[in-house]
Amino acid sequence: MKHFGLLGEHLGHSLSPQLHKIIMFERHIEGDYTLVELPRETVEQDFLKIKSERRYTGLNVTIPYKQTVMPLLDEIAPQAQMIGAVNTIHFTEDGRTVGYNTDYYGVLELLNENKIDVQGKKVLILGAGGAARAFIAAIRAGGATEIHVASRSAKVGDTYMECPMVSYDALEQEFHVDLVVNCTPVGMWPNEGVSPISAEVMKRLGAFAALDAIYNPDETQFLKYAKELGMIAANGMTMLMEQAVKAQEIWNSK
Ligand code: NAP
Repeated sequence: MKHFGLLGEHLGHSLSPQLHKIIMFERHIEGDYTLVELPRETVEQDFLKIKSERRYTGLNVTIPYKQTVMPLLDEIAPQAQMIGAVNTIHFTEDGRTVGYNTDYYGVLELLNENKIDVQGKKVLILGAGGAARAFIAAIRAGGATEIHVASRSAKVGDTYMECPMVSYDALEQEFHVDLVVNCTPVGMWPNEGVSPISAEVMKRLGAFAALDAIYNPDETQFLKYAKELGMIAANGMTMLMEQAVKAQEIWNSK
């Protein structure tokens, strides 16, 4: 039996144990998945102890440790390096630790499932945080020609992962894109019914598709606006599922 888990600080509401149980059942993987809560003061020593004990085959990593673990690992996959965060660690049989970012693969699958080809497209990402970084890396790899990032603090000339930043005021002017992605927590349970952009701005953008990193609720106000305009509209559930599936594939080499 293999041991997997989620490393974080406060993990009481995590969906990961349920997700991984489903995936392990479906894929005939014998293992357990536990929550590993570590305090900030000792996280580095605790992590090195976990590594030396060689109990785990794999750990997911969540806020606030996605960057903390990076200097403690033996190797970091290029996508995780690009994103600047690790959400999956593989403890290999020869005692090494390799960090990955499987949110990247979650985004690729979300695009794929909704038949969104970003090659040559202009994309607008709302929010400049962790989810945005995974979307930018995957959308850039997909060949988008322009990626703009809207931030509440954007000033003229600012960039985020080398993408030009725009203010929300600028979106009120003429601003056209092919795809718009919500990577802010605006509209997430329990603060539903609000959207980072208005129905008017959604219409003016002229995009053919809208994606939301949020998966609870199923349909955010942002996605409702998109659906009313007949756009392709999808939430972050596929991304969430797929990042977990990819983690299991890495840990089990299948
Ligand atoms: P985060 O880093 O805390 O925040 C993202 C960005 O949103 C912030 O950097 C901020 O950018 C902007 N923002 C925050 N509050 C805002 C507000 N009130 N109004 C407008 N913008 C605001 O969070 P995250 O980890 O990127 O997660 C963002 C969302 O994606 C969450 O709902 C999370 O649950 C979801 N998510 C889903 C998945 C998945 O697998 N589906 C994975 C990761 C995250 P500025 O300050 O620059 O404006």
